[in-house]
Amino acid sequence: MFDTGIKVLVVDDMATMRKIVIKSLRELGFEEFMEVADGGLAWDRLKESPENVGLIICDWNMPNVTGIEFLKKIRASQDFNQLPFILLTAESEVSQVKEALEAGVDNYIVKPFTVEILKRKLQDTYKKINP
Ligand SMILES: [Mg+2]
Repeated sequence: MFDTGIKVLVVDDMATMRKIVIKSLRELGFEEFMEVADGGLAWDRLKESPENVGLIICDWNMPNVTGIEFLKKIRASQDFNQLPFILLTAESEVSQVKEALEAGVDNYIVKPFTVEILKRKLQDTYKKINP
């Protein structure tokens, strides 16, 4: 499982969803977060203070810079291309997940989700990255 001492970058244009993600992560023991509303802001924050960021959980559908655009930027960057990246998708976007997998996403979670699902997804993602 991920070290709960890492900082999690939570990206979603809906403040309510960011709160749900962070609350769920807190229940799993995580304590440090950065939250932003779109992929452009996420990129800026990451460049500003990359320290300890060990996981990105990012919504797909956002204004300005979408989740998939942000993912592609991360995977193309020298400094952040190894960062675990989990995409949050709506049920209606599941058919597009192939595009995200091809772009190098590590996993995805369909909204709405439970803490149990989040936990399992985090475990799966960690195992996939550290076989
Ligand atoms: Mg959204």
